[in-house]
Amino acid sequence: MSTEENKPSLNFIEQFIEDDLKSGKHDKIQTRFPPEPNGYLHIGHAKAIVVNFEMAKKYKGQCNLRFDDTNPEKEKVDYVDGIKEDIKWLGYEWEKTLFTSDYFGQLYTWAVQLINDGKAYVDDQTAEEMSANRGTPSEPSKPSPYRDRSIEENFRLFEEMKEGKCEEGSRVLRAKIDLASPNMLMRDPALYRIKNMPHHRTGSTWHVYPMYDFAHGQSDSIEHVTHSLCTLEFENHRPLYNWFIKELGIYPSRQIEFARLNLSYTITSKRKLLKLVEEDHVTGWDDPRMPTLVAMRRRGFPPKAITNFAQKVGVAKRNNIIDVALLEFSVREELNKTANRVFGVLNPVKLVIENYPEGKVDRMQAVNNPEDETAGKRELPFSRELYIDRSDFMENPPSPKKFFRLGPGREVRLKYGYIIKCTGYEKDAEGNITLIKAEYFPDTRSGQDTSGKKVKGTLSWVSANEAVQAEIRLYDRLFLNENPANSEDITESLNPNSLTVVKNAVIEPSVKNLTKGDTVQFERQGYFTVDEDSTATQLVFNRTISLRDSWGKAQKK
Ligand code: ATP
Ligand code: MG
Repeated sequence: MSTEENKPSLNFIEQFIEDDLKSGKHDKIQTRFPPEPNGYLHIGHAKAIVVNFEMAKKYKGQCNLRFDDTNPEKEKVDYVDGIKEDIKWLGYEWEKTLFTSDYFGQLYTWAVQLINDGKAYVDDQTAEEMSANRGTPSEPSKPSPYRDRSIEENFRLFEEMKEGKCEEGSRVLRAKIDLASPNMLMRDPALYRIKNMPHHRTGSTWHVYPMYDFAHGQSDSIEHVTHSLCTLEFENHRPLYNWFIKELGIYPSRQIEFARLNLSYTITSKRKLLKLVEEDHVTGWDDPRMPTLVAMRRRGFPPKAITNFAQKVGVAKRNNIIDVALLEFSVREELNKTANRVFGVLNPVKLVIENYPEGKVDRMQAVNNPEDETAGKRELPFSRELYIDRSDFMENPPSPKKFFRLGPGREVRLKYGYIIKCTGYEKDAEGNITLIKAEYFPDTRSGQDTSGKKVKGTLSWVSANEAVQAEIRLYDRLFLNENPANSEDITESLNPNSLTVVKNAVIEPSVKNLTKGDTVQFERQGYFTVDEDSTATQLVFNRTISLRDSWGKAQKK
């Protein structure tokens, strides 16, 4: 486990860019973010977004959004819209919206050019025959019996493929490169396959669709992308990327690879996330436990926490696993500055202050955010009947050195209120505490305390009369396994307790002013965001994150 936190970020990519600017190869930088619209974006994509947009920003260039839509069976317009929304939410604006499918005509022309140059051929071998003839890195491939077809025949057959006259899987168009290359991708890679299937943008115009390698680099060239930043698994595609540039005589984009973002306890693969959605292990792509950007937005992660995180991780040349606690740290760091504090009690038990006058309400002044003076103050009603959390009371507490909170005869401060002393309690037949009795000391009012009394414990509380009842959804990690992508079936390591629903939490009345998507800190508990399932009569909160910071603690050790 490691992070690149202390290294200057984006270094080797910047180096390439600066070299190319200095040598005069380019005078302006053009990058692109190229998602395939076959799912929603996840935290891994956020890293690619940050890298591409921040490079363009730093060197005063531009970044385009290009949908790499060459697999008609998996792609949908909904995903196109979702992806746009997520990038905007992260705070980035792209220059142009582009689609690889808009280049299908140009790509076809280039394929014909290769055929005419004797650099591509139609292969009728079955997939099994092709793989049987593939060889190994040290042993060359066996040439296909169709490798030496005439230019005319190749052209005619490719036309037939295009016109929908051939069955899927019956033929492919392959580049003619080098069957002995140690790089298997250079051994006559497939350029086009037959798919007699409509596309979400081009309809039924096409029956052949280009392979990734015959679409991605060419699209970069069409758009004059100067630096094509991609993840490490494409490193061995680079010779092929450059071969097409040379053979087609097209714009020389430069491919630079960086390590994928892998996060502990997290899946970053759209295909696997889709499985979780389709098999109902989660409620949808926006289930707050998902590592997608839609889910993080719903859960209440601030976009800035995500882009800060991506920048902290930086770019690396080797794959590694980043501790998910670093992402959580970034979320807390951001929310600590921006979220107002409120009192919320997840597991309420009633506290009656017997010497406090019935019907009296004291309006206490509470600080909204100690990290932000401009956030101001709010009024917090204090009355004879309050709620406190069950976990703040013990019938037989250990020594006051170990448990500062309430117990029979013990004293604590009710924050922004008074010091109280527990004078008794009631239990039901099962032994659950149902009521706590106390007396308060009128000369201990916060800010006006003249008593000289000292107590160690401070509790949050909610006035019973004005309490707002709420449902709270507590999330834990979706996977128990630190590296869930390693298991054959990711569902094996799903955490059965990743969601706990608390039905009867009580919150101070100021939360009535919140709207969906607003985040507050429940003091001593964590950050909570109003969920979209909230209605006029029922507030629903997602726990965005608890206050416990395992990452920060680990760094101090
Ligand atoms: P997935 O396997 O989740 O579908 P992908 O790479 O196939 O991922 P694309 O839509 O093709 O998804 O990705 C768009 C861009 O985002 C690509 O440039 C890709 O390299 C980058 N990307 C995807 N996942 C990550 C990741 N985990 N870390 C960094 N970049 C990523
Ligand atoms: Mg992909």
